[in-house]
Amino acid sequence: MDSEEIERIAVLGAGNMGHGIAEVAALAGYTVTMRDINEEFVQNGYDQIEWSLDKLAEKDQISRGEADSALDRVTPVVDLSEAVGDADVVIEAVPEKMDIKKEVYREVAEHAPSEAIFATNTSSLSITELSEVSDRPEQFCGMHFFNPPVRMQLVEVISGAHTADDTLDTIEALAESMGKTPVRVRKDSPGFIVNRILVPLMNEAAWIVRGDDATVAEVDSTTKFDLGLPMGSFELADQVGIDVGYHVLEYMHQELGDAYRPCPLLAEKVEAENLGKKTGKGFYDYENGGADIPTDAGRDDVAERLLAVVANEVAGLVDADVADPDAIDQAVKLGAGFPDGPAKMADDHGLESLVETLDE
Ligand code: NAD
Repeated sequence: MDSEEIERIAVLGAGNMGHGIAEVAALAGYTVTMRDINEEFVQNGYDQIEWSLDKLAEKDQISRGEADSALDRVTPVVDLSEAVGDADVVIEAVPEKMDIKKEVYREVAEHAPSEAIFATNTSSLSITELSEVSDRPEQFCGMHFFNPPVRMQLVEVISGAHTADDTLDTIEALAESMGKTPVRVRKDSPGFIVNRILVPLMNEAAWIVRGDDATVAEVDSTTKFDLGLPMGSFELADQVGIDVGYHVLEYMHQELGDAYRPCPLLAEKVEAENLGKKTGKGFYDYENGGADIPTDAGRDDVAERLLAVVANEVAGLVDADVADPDAIDQAVKLGAGFPDGPAKMADDHGLESLVETLDE
């Protein structure tokens, strides 16, 4: 299917991501059906779209008329065949569980038109494995929006092993028509681009503290004020959800080897259900002021270790032909708010000393 032919989009899941993706699609002029498993969930997603459109209009980012017509274009439904029966593209944002997603694709394949493209918003599951339970692995790819979709510019468009180039071209054009910047991920590799950089960074930060080489305050001060990233490494883990990062890490460990072994410090937090901001406590206590990062506790040895890990991930992505350095830099700047891309940061620092640090 050509991108100009796309008129109707079905979004599966009306949760955090699903309702945001439906809103973005409706704002771009598409007719959207948004499906969840019961009336309450789908209505809740619809109400959140209404609230968000209202905020955009209040801040004059769109007109009242645009907000109203975008909302008119969204139909909340529970019946699956009604949701996907005449869809040109199906974007799936159901829970991050392989068995749930596979069940969804088996069912959707029965009801969607044969030319419809399926795109999954998974953060970490194998696109190839999901595509193989659908009846159309060539018309199947990843379309990874960032949270919240209405504000985040990046969409990673990920090829599975069977994805046709046409499918990737169409989904990239679709992302552009929604005002987003697509970055192509050429291979179905754990963490894609942005999480492949961020998650090992969080893990290394945890190993540094676990090994008594530095404190949480020193690591976060280094990350934020010396490396210039938008947040401290632990602050970021708390923001994303320590459990979310941990699960991506477990998958990387399984697929990419022992260098990705999750630090026990992260496992302890997950076990204690101190998952970060969403539970009120993680590495910081959000009921008592949250992250308070000193501006002057940075250390050169910590910066060197964190940057070395980031550089190593860039090299791994380039080496495996998942993405080139420009695409990596663009994705991480847009998806994680880095002022400079990680490839440029590594080059500016000097690769020789980073390689020595990695060897150590
Ligand atoms: P969520 O739990 O907020 O929403 C998932 C929704 O899917 C729920 O409302 C649930 O009732 C619904 N659902 C369950 N089974 C369904 C089915 N068979 N059909 C339709 N809906 C069904 O989760 P989320 O945070 O929106 O995540 C959704 C997907 O997006 C996951 O794959 C996640 O990894 C990915 N993702 C999440 C984020 C994030 O920051 N939250 C960012 C990028 C990608």
